[in-house]
Amino acid sequence: MTASVLVVDDLEPNVKLLEAKLRAEYFDVIGAYSGQEALELAVREKPDIILLDVMMPGMDGFETCRKLKADPETMHIPVVMVTALDQQADRIVGLEAGADDFLTKPVEDIALFARVRSLTRLKMMTDELRARYATGKDLGIVGKIDPDASLSDAQILLIDDNEEQAARMINALGDNPNYHVTHESDPEEALSRARQGEFDLILVNMSIEAMDPLRLCSSIRSFEETRLTPLLAIVRNGDTRKLVRALDIGVNDYVTRPVDKNELTARVVTQLRRKHYVDQLRSSFQVSLEMAVTDQLTGLYNRRYLASHLSAMFDRAYWTGRPLLVMILDIDHFKQVNDTYGHDVGDRVLKEFAEHISNSIRGIDLACRYGGEEFLIAMPDTDLTFAAVVAERVRQEIAAQKFHVNAGRDELSVTVSIGLASTENGPEDDSAQKLIKRADDALYEAKSGGRNRVIQSAA
Ligand code: GH3
Ligand code: MG
Ligand code: MG
Repeated sequence: MTASVLVVDDLEPNVKLLEAKLRAEYFDVIGAYSGQEALELAVREKPDIILLDVMMPGMDGFETCRKLKADPETMHIPVVMVTALDQQADRIVGLEAGADDFLTKPVEDIALFARVRSLTRLKMMTDELRARYATGKDLGIVGKIDPDASLSDAQILLIDDNEEQAARMINALGDNPNYHVTHESDPEEALSRARQGEFDLILVNMSIEAMDPLRLCSSIRSFEETRLTPLLAIVRNGDTRKLVRALDIGVNDYVTRPVDKNELTARVVTQLRRKHYVDQLRSSFQVSLEMAVTDQLTGLYNRRYLASHLSAMFDRAYWTGRPLLVMILDIDHFKQVNDTYGHDVGDRVLKEFAEHISNSIRGIDLACRYGGEEFLIAMPDTDLTFAAVVAERVRQEIAAQKFHVNAGRDELSVTVSIGLASTENGPEDDSAQKLIKRADDALYEAKSGGRNRVIQSAA
């Protein structure tokens, strides 16, 4: 997939130059000639990265960047500021405005492509999470997340075998209530600690001697436990070759030595904030996934999940030649429970009933809430004879169980009717739907035969 780059510069030749370079590397390029135009195009074209000139008449690059980062529609797009002079003060202002990186004019090709590639790669990862999060939000199952939520107690691992330089780094990071720094001088030891501990950011001195620093970064990127942990490289000023390799390996950001205290802190905080944002996206997605497939009241799988999963179970039964059994349970005269004790008591009974069936089945069985007071259990590799014994036991236990309601002041009992059907006999089932239909017919027979009983689908 090609990434699209928005190039912003008030001078047309500058835009054309960068455009030609990027097109030669197969990037899609859009040009903008002012801050205002950049803001409009960023919203409309949704570029993957923005190269932003600092000095422009009217709205300058800093202000444009600040506005891009304040708009929820564009805040996730990485911004690289292009400055005429390598001014430290400009970098700090840029970082504070939310810039992700800097390039100095005239723009060096290798540095340009390495930045654009690494930033667009990171963006694509976050985009996937953002898309899932948006789906969850559209479905109304995830709440808002706060991208500015304050960080606290973040854990940073500093890997450096040069004691003097490490001490300087720790000093530059200073005492900050947002994070805590752990220093490790042995790279192998550091790697195993990183795989065990929960670090929010790893800083690697790219001049370590005990191990090839690029190998170290690449290992950090390849281990499952640290694959997504932000990685910040400390590179000697002018060592472009190592820097480009590091960015290609997947290092998220870098600072050059001698390290500027303000720049270091700004970059560290940016990485920590981004990690915090991605963590929130990921966990909200986890929640939305669980909510999408489970029934809120009982915690069992819902009908939507059953619909997709049962056909997979059915196919498996078909291919393995092992029987798949479907059991449908429907509480008898449940309407009376609601009418007599109220809807809340009815809910309580449904919850306890669901707990009971969860405890009665095996791990491979799938229990779901099929309707209001109707439950379905799919049991792989199970024949009718065995299932009839399980169903009969459940029926008796439910009939004997006292449901405690109204804070234990009242107790009531219910009975259940159960219908069973299996792929092993009866008319050839050629779909999960037909199997359910037969279990449902058996249930209907149990109801019309007087309820509180188990009926197997006739052969
Ligand atoms: P039968 O023995 O024929 O199954 O009789 P029934 O009363 O159980 O069946 P019917 O289908 O007539 O009524 C089901 C009742 O279940 C009606 C509905 O109010 C109640 N119900 C469905 N879902 C819920 C729920 O989530 N909570 C509560 N409290 N009641 C529910
Ligand atoms: Mg019922
Ligand atoms: Mg019913």
